[in-house]
Amino acid sequence: MLNIVEIRKDFPLLEQKVHNFPLVYMDNGATTQKPRIVIETIKQLYSQQNSSIHRGVHFLSEQITDIFENARNTVKEFLNAGESHEIIFTSGATGSINTIAYSFGEKHIGPEDEIIVSEMEHHANIVPWQMLCERKRAKLIILPIDDNGELQIDRLENLFSRKTKILALTHVSNTLGTINPVKKIIEIAHTHNVPVLIDGAQAIQHGTVDVRDLDCDFYVFSGHKVYGPNGIGILYGKEKWLEELPPYQGGGDMIKSVTFKKTTYNDIPFKFEAGTINYIGAIGLSKALEYLNRLGKQDIEDYETKLLKYGTEKLNEIEGLRIYGNAENKICIFSFLLEGIHQYDAGMVLDKMGIAVRTGTHCAQPVMDRFGIQGTIRASLAFYNTKSEIDRLVQGLLKVKEMFH
Ligand code: PLP
Repeated sequence: MLNIVEIRKDFPLLEQKVHNFPLVYMDNGATTQKPRIVIETIKQLYSQQNSSIHRGVHFLSEQITDIFENARNTVKEFLNAGESHEIIFTSGATGSINTIAYSFGEKHIGPEDEIIVSEMEHHANIVPWQMLCERKRAKLIILPIDDNGELQIDRLENLFSRKTKILALTHVSNTLGTINPVKKIIEIAHTHNVPVLIDGAQAIQHGTVDVRDLDCDFYVFSGHKVYGPNGIGILYGKEKWLEELPPYQGGGDMIKSVTFKKTTYNDIPFKFEAGTINYIGAIGLSKALEYLNRLGKQDIEDYETKLLKYGTEKLNEIEGLRIYGNAENKICIFSFLLEGIHQYDAGMVLDKMGIAVRTGTHCAQPVMDRFGIQGTIRASLAFYNTKSEIDRLVQGLLKVKEMFH
């Protein structure tokens, strides 16, 4: 069982007051706060160990290269990937999806080909595919969601055709909190010989992800949403895909040899890591993952499930509040509206009470269109949140109602 009082001490940012109230940070879907071990590691790396990786024969360069490659191994273990060269460091989930949309797209997508995405995707898992469709005159096919915010899986089978080349799907919706049955969907896609990219940006921090068990072809996430640093992300790809796909960007480190006549590319993972990548961020990320391992992924999941149950009950007691996203299987995200009150007004008033929530479309405009709304208030929780913070949110919302009615 998690000791939340102790755990909160690991996160210095949470100790502060905002507008004279103890901070209630419920914008974890946007970015998570960092434990001391991540902050201290970055400080130590820059003050004592910084040097460019893979390039030097000197002590510092060799030392940091080792630490960096160990970080890759930590990510591999965290995802239960088969090989560490299946782990590519990118700038984030967005960078990872763009890498595959470009690289896979260059090799495998032609006119009239089809790419399936769902209606609940973050823009990061829509726009790169749309750009590809524009380049190649291909088509985007949409898997719809129902009123609870669940995928209409029964309609999936009919979306496949001989032209389907890839399916890209979020593991967990950043807006509705829905946990999608990705394993089952991957299985269905594979019966059609269609590879699957899973956007794990909102999943990796909430439970166990096992890429070999899922059998996904690609899995992506961002460091900053999993208690790690900004500007670093992961692209997991099955070896066979990474071997056969062309590089996304050209530059240093991704080459074996360069002449003006011909350039040959490096082996994976380096083929996809052009330029001086964010090695400090990568090491920081590995520290965040080790921290989660120490807490225990199952304990995190169990605790957050309790928060979800408690929060759902409490929010549903507020008259005129409607929650968007009532999937059977969901993470601790509450997207909601108060009848007759604009989400921005509510968000501003909550802020004055030291409560940080997000308001707007959450980069998932098609979800808003599906429900015929402009946006929502989103409280996205992490394992450092508490039931008493949920009570503060509820009190804050009652105050908002009082002010606007
Ligand atoms: N996918 C999902 C489901 C997200 O929630 C986000 C960010 O909110 C992203 C992708 C993009 O992440 P990043 O901006 O870190 O690349």
